Formats: sequence, structure tokens, C-alpha cells
Amino acid sequence: MSPADLVRPEILGLKAYHVPGAQGLVKLDAMENPYTLPEALRRELAAVLARVELNRYPDPGGAKLRALLARKMQVPAGMEVMLGNGSDELLQMVVMALARRGAAMMYPAPTFVMYSMYATFMGMKALATPLREDLSFDAAAFIARMKAECPALVFIAYPNNPSGILYPEEDVAAVIRAAPGLVLIDEAYHAFARKSFMGRLGEFPNLLVLRTVSKLGLAGIRLGYLAGRPEWIEQLNKVRPPYNVNVLTQAAACFLLERLDVLEAQAAEIRAEREQLAGELARLPGVKVFPSQANFILIRVPDAGRTHAALLERRVLVKNLDGEATRNCLRITVGTPEENRILLAALKEALP
Ligand code: PMP
Repeated sequence: MSPADLVRPEILGLKAYHVPGAQGLVKLDAMENPYTLPEALRRELAAVLARVELNRYPDPGGAKLRALLARKMQVPAGMEVMLGNGSDELLQMVVMALARRGAAMMYPAPTFVMYSMYATFMGMKALATPLREDLSFDAAAFIARMKAECPALVFIAYPNNPSGILYPEEDVAAVIRAAPGLVLIDEAYHAFARKSFMGRLGEFPNLLVLRTVSKLGLAGIRLGYLAGRPEWIEQLNKVRPPYNVNVLTQAAACFLLERLDVLEAQAAEIRAEREQLAGELARLPGVKVFPSQANFILIRVPDAGRTHAALLERRVLVKNLDGEATRNCLRITVGTPEENRILLAALKEALP
């Protein structure tokens, strides 16, 4: 007997999410915040974590952390928050809860690859609806297809990954208004776009807002949060694995949310660096820069495969996204000024 005899065919057909090694490289491939915490804060955090009782299960619903997130992230009164082991887990839970037989989910594409993966895992039909060629959002075409196909669920990354493009707020609002089902606005890059549907949760009965602390500088602790009406969160909580957010994550997040100014200052530096880097990239001959409101920049080069390899030879790791809608595209995470300088120097040599 082999796995091929037992594993579902749609899983056999998948490729696992690939994360390349980055030892010794300037790592600009994963939308991480390049800054660590200040030394004094790290020592304080260590003392806090040392007191955590590792022998006990976590608070199952993370009540203290949820209340703190609601306060610090301006979740409107009357809305509920639920926690995930990264926002990835919350995406998976939403799909799991809505994957009735024959139900479909829909999203503008290209976008975060895990949306379609979760649909496959749960047996939900995924309707990837193409963006325009410049990766901007054609709301009218999206709404027309939504009306025809009646998806139970819509995902919109705001801003989008891999383009970094922030769709016009009114276009997204029009989708939410016209949707026959639930709409999840994925605000993973909120710290860099500073536009949000959080404050508009009360306006739409079919809206959820998803966030993560990953891009803000805490990718390692794996914490995402989902805000929405209590009646939605109540149902979604039923598919949440018990104790899904561990004690160290809860303690670290509670400690750092009280000191959010440190991470927000880092995000401000990244935003300023993004503008600087985008300007420099646009000056390189043969390079097209997509307008980004995230902590990464998508560029199109004459030959992405060759440029990616030539950057690697110079010990710089970016993401090669060469594919149908992202032909010859590379996604570059904004690094420290020093990392960005190294990238630009390497890129000047690497371009044909
Ligand atoms: N949503 C989007 C749009 C993303 O790009 C990512 C990460 N690349 C995630 C969600 C997942 O982030 P995490 O699980 O680290 O919270």
C-alpha cells in the first residue's frame, strides 16, 4: 500500500507551500519586518516569558489577549474577536465552516496562494477571478461574476499580495454590498497601508476583518485575529482547535501590545524605506514597479529567472513569481536601509 492509494487525489495533486533556506542570505522574500526588538525590551520580555506556566494549557479562548487586541486595534464595540495560530489558521477555519457541499469561494487573482489551497483542502470550489493586466481590481467584472456564481465566501486581500496594490475603498465596499455571501477582508499588510474596514464592520452584516501581527514584526509568534459580528464568530469558534494559540504567544502578544509604539515606529520606517526603494527601482532600466501599499514591492524585469538566480549568487534572496499573470515578476520585501542598498547594488549587476 502506498500514500497514493489512500490520500485524496486533490491532495496528491498539490505541491506543499515551499519555503527556501535563507542561511547567510539577505532575506527579502517573506514580507518580514527586518528589525528585531530593542535589547531592553527583549530582556523585559524574557522575564515575562520566564514566569509563564508551561505546564498549564493556555486560556482556551485567549480572553485577555482578545480584549487587548480589541482595544488596541480599534475593534468597534459589539464586535467579537477570535484568535488564530497565524491568520493562516483563521482563513482555514472560515473555509472549513462554510464549505457546504457544492459551495464556492471567490477572490481576485493572483493573490495569496493559500486561499485556493484551503479551498482544495476543504473541497470548496475556488473561483479565481482575474485582476486587470496591471493587477488593478475590476470591481464591475468581479461583481458580475459574483452575481452569476453566487459564492458563499469572498476573500479580498487589502492590500493584495503579491502586487502590494490597495484597491479603491469604494470598489471593495461595492463588493461587500453586492455579495450574496460572507466577505472576508484580509488586512495582513494593514500596518503599511493604514486603510481598514475595521471601523465599517457595523455597516455590513456579511463582513469579517482579518489581521495578523506577522508583518508588524512578530511573524515568529504566529498570531492572527479575526473580527466580526458575534453570530459569525460563534459559529467559526466551533471549528477552532482547542488551545490553538499557545501560552508563550499569548504572553508575548499581551506584553508587546502594551508597547505597540515600538512596532509602529518600525512600520513607519518601513513605509518610508518602501517609498525610497520604489523610487530607486523605477530608475533601473527595463524595470516596471507596481504601486505598493504593503511592506514589499513587486517588479517586472526582462527575465525573472535569470535575475533571481543572479541575485542569489550575490547572496540576496527575493521571491520569483514568474507565472501567468505575474510574468517575469519578482517580489522584494522592504528591508533595512543597508539591506535595500545591497539589493539595489546586486540588482544593477543582475539585470541583463
Ligand atoms: N494573508 C495574506 C494576504 C498574506 O500575504 C499572508 C502571509 N504571507 C497571510 C495572510 C498569512 O499570514 P500569517 O499566517 O503569518 O498571519
